[in-house]
Amino acid sequence: MSEERALLTATDLHKTYGATPALAGADFAIRSGEVVAVMGPSGSGKSTLLHCLAGIVPPDAGTITYDGREVSSMSDAERSALRRADFGFVFQFGQLVPELSCVENVALPLRLVGTGRKEAEARAHAWLARLEVDDVRHHRPGQISGGQGQRVAVARALVNSPRVLFADEPTGALDSLNGERVMELLTDAARESGAAVVLVTHESRVAAYSDREVVVRDGRARDMQGVA
Ligand code: ADP
Repeated sequence: MSEERALLTATDLHKTYGATPALAGADFAIRSGEVVAVMGPSGSGKSTLLHCLAGIVPPDAGTITYDGREVSSMSDAERSALRRADFGFVFQFGQLVPELSCVENVALPLRLVGTGRKEAEARAHAWLARLEVDDVRHHRPGQISGGQGQRVAVARALVNSPRVLFADEPTGALDSLNGERVMELLTDAARESGAAVVLVTHESRVAAYSDREVVVRDGRARDMQGVA
């Protein structure tokens, strides 16, 4: 993949936790609108790679470039602003705010950037409908199923029209039927909105929804098509 065409790239990332090497020279690149599955066994460094790419965890060495800007040399405040404006996140467990209704949860990222309540909730409602969970919009997260919760989490991640959606084992806590539906909805909705997706998973049936697979082993990433 040519550097100019990639939206987000990582070059020769190293990260060590104490004596444990999590990344040992990982390279990665993703284009706008592309869905890339990051695969590999447990403990191989997939989540660490995602956290570094998203500017959550600073690498010990290596470079991360997003849209021509070097993420590794941004201040904490610049990285937070980038995450709020350009990135969306879905984790294994939805991490919804338990005190808020589903529609309020989805509206939250819009409220945080100053959108008025009415407009934020109207847009949140449209996203909940897109993810086929508008019927639970007034429920609290504790009152809905795991599959519904992940759909709400996907809606919340996409409501701000992020350019990159980071998903870390988004169906890891779901049964296979619910997992497949969440993956279908997640990838369809991301493709429609033009978001690139970095999808961490150890399941090949989940990776089947991606355009391309990258395998991480012992902290090194290898592109299965040899283009990154
Ligand atoms: P994966 O996502 O492939 O399961 P991780 O990136 O979570 O792999 O972990 C890679 C290695 O780094 C593992 O040995 C893990 O125990 C270690 N590790 C990850 N995060 C931390 C942390 N916050 N503190 C200490 N060790 C960590």
